[in-house]
Amino acid sequence: MAQATQAEKLSGSRYSAQDGLLLAVDDLHVEFRTHEGVAKAINGVNFELHEGETLAILGESGSGKSVTAQAVMGIVDSPPGFVTGGEIRYCGQDLLTMPEEQRRGIRGPEISMVFQDALSSLNPVFTVGWQIGEMFRIHRGMNKTDAQEQAVRLMERVSIPGARQRVKAFPHQFSGGMRQRIMIAMAIALDPAVLIADEPTTALDVTVQAQIMDLLSELQEERKMGLILITHDLGVVADVADRIAVMYAGRIVEHADVYDLYARPGHPYSKGLLESIPRLDQKGTQLAAIGGLPPNLTRIPAGCSFNPRCRYAADVCRVDPPPPLREIGHRWRSACHFAEEVLAGTAEVTKGTLDGVVQPDPAADELEPSAGATAMPNEGDRR
Ligand code: SF4
Repeated sequence: MAQATQAEKLSGSRYSAQDGLLLAVDDLHVEFRTHEGVAKAINGVNFELHEGETLAILGESGSGKSVTAQAVMGIVDSPPGFVTGGEIRYCGQDLLTMPEEQRRGIRGPEISMVFQDALSSLNPVFTVGWQIGEMFRIHRGMNKTDAQEQAVRLMERVSIPGARQRVKAFPHQFSGGMRQRIMIAMAIALDPAVLIADEPTTALDVTVQAQIMDLLSELQEERKMGLILITHDLGVVADVADRIAVMYAGRIVEHADVYDLYARPGHPYSKGLLESIPRLDQKGTQLAAIGGLPPNLTRIPAGCSFNPRCRYAADVCRVDPPPPLREIGHRWRSACHFAEEVLAGTAEVTKGTLDGVVQPDPAADELEPSAGATAMPNEGDRR
């Protein structure tokens, strides 16, 4: 029998995806009130997610990608974090204005999340079967026996060998890759329409990374979920994402189909990230990197926030913020004064480079690593 689409699955509930649109984030703002000042972590983020679509959100630490996910899930640690503006609509309903009780009914059954550190996300004193089964006991009212049977079924689905025997094992008795599979099993237990995976492979070796990405991709295809992959690693998502949103200093600076962005980035930051991927055909050469550090989110530079690190920065970039994302191609948007020139390869390099490495602007040296990041909630801080 054909797999039901998310729209069909949702049609029996009070949430119904119109034209396959599951999630619409519009002009989202999040800030953290820290002892150093207000860290503006998210500054007007917009994106959409349709059923069956995989969106990768990409950027360095402190760019705001995890906070965006936490805002969607409704788990921004408050205080110090506050969603100060915008809308997050799930199947047309704004999550930010609905009662918390209603939102709890969405978190898990409708929108679910895989966190990056499985060991600290799993409870060490309960068996994995108990923790997976909890989803069914709490949300479906199942008894312990039936919930455990569901846990075995899910462990088998995420390819944990000997699931029936290992359902009573504890998290520390599994390898890192297997623990991440258990986290995925918990996240898909209630057949969510949207799955958010926050750096799901960061702590894993390369082979296991590929296996986990394959599993996520397979499950997404099988269940027609909308999948949001959050990562700092462009290499990890190349094969699985449909679209990519590149974030810097709390904004999306480029949003494009994956093939377009990989072939010809339309923003200097995306270009720098792509150039920093190690390549086998460039053995012995210095690895290109983006000079400087992401800005302190309590003191975001004037003009374009990327200007202290940008090889193409001109006077206008230090004064005028670039316009919000604007079309530079089909389903392709960039927030750069010189996006067309960057795309065409004709943008003028204004800063010295050494083997592709931008020499940091003196202004960038004054910018410390994102203080906002230190104030960010960790994944255990759920509202
Ligand atoms: Fe670089 Fe200017 Fe574009 Fe910002 S607006 S990314 S500083 S060229």
